[in-house]
Amino acid sequence: MQQDQLIILGSGGGRHHIRTQHRATGGILYKFNGIQSHIDPGPGAIVRINQYKEDPIKTELFITTHAHVDHFNDLSALIESSREILHNKNYNYFKKGTLITTNEVLKLMSNYHLNMLEKIISFKAGSKYNYKDIEIIGTKVVHSLNNEGFGVIFKLKNYSLAFASDTMVYDSFSEQYSGVNILILNLLRPNSVTCKRHLCTDEVIPYLNKIVPPLNGLVITHFGSYMDGPRSPKNFVPSQVKKLKEKTTIKNIIAAEDGLKIKIASLLE
Ligand SMILES: [Zn+2]
Ligand SMILES: [Zn+2]
Repeated sequence: MQQDQLIILGSGGGRHHIRTQHRATGGILYKFNGIQSHIDPGPGAIVRINQYKEDPIKTELFITTHAHVDHFNDLSALIESSREILHNKNYNYFKKGTLITTNEVLKLMSNYHLNMLEKIISFKAGSKYNYKDIEIIGTKVVHSLNNEGFGVIFKLKNYSLAFASDTMVYDSFSEQYSGVNILILNLLRPNSVTCKRHLCTDEVIPYLNKIVPPLNGLVITHFGSYMDGPRSPKNFVPSQVKKLKEKTTIKNIIAAEDGLKIKIASLLE
């Protein structure tokens, strides 16, 4: 656990950040138990992993939560970059890595890249998969009518961490994070700027307060253009952190920044 880390390869989400890269859109590296996983490698993920001095060869677990381009665009590039040698002299491709994603994402990928993987796990809300003694559970999202999707909980020996992915709040939102210590929350919009597909701060606060036992740590990320960028008069991120600290009992609240490296231990204090 002392070595476990999150590396923010992109704190931005949505098409305006895809276009401007005002905030990067490369997703998150989650390192646990000596395993490097890449969650939602959006546009520029391969650029950011190099820019922030991380090593794509070390990635062995890929998770793409849904088929939106800010979550899956660089997936094939990262799979191809996760090995130094592609094939032997007889063109037998070297298989490496596990991919957990939706059927829809699998349909969008080439057989060439799918064949590079050792394991492909089709996933949705409620799915469970045991990866090297870590239980991975799919959580519900209410996001896009046209896309399948899921969030994901990692149950480790000493702590449990969840990536909510893109979602709105819904009735059982709080219950499914019961027992989770750290939540990575895609918070696209500030204050009460509501959206039919995403969360805003004022909407989510009551749901965060209903998680029992309370979270030890919260990381907000995947900020949209109303939070910071082309359509916002200022960067609302600091004021949202302040508000979350004032209105929840969560001890450790951190806002993602591009290139930020967060020690898991610091979120569990
Ligand atoms: Zn998104
Ligand atoms: Zn999305």
